Amino acid sequence: MKPHGVRPAAADAWDDLQAALRETTTPCQGPNAAWWTSDDGDERHAAALHCQQCPVLDICDAYAAANREKDGFVWGGRTR
Ligand code: SF4
Repeated sequence: MKPHGVRPAAADAWDDLQAALRETTTPCQGPNAAWWTSDDGDERHAAALHCQQCPVLDICDAYAAANREKDGFVWGGRTR
């Protein structure tokens, strides 16, 4: 079952991202996790830079694009 907010067109990309996340840890799961949802633009910028080291960057970016994530969070190295 998909969480609320995952569009049908993004369902496969969501599944791909969840499968990838089960195999690794990512910067957004670390001690600075709050940066990815921060109201502070500098923190979101720092989060986006940390995404560049993420092993699932391309998969995360593909999901965010497919789901048109626009809530000001950082996904796949971009502030949406
Ligand atoms: S690319 Fe996605 S999964 Fe990786 S740190 Fe950034 S937001 Fe998290």
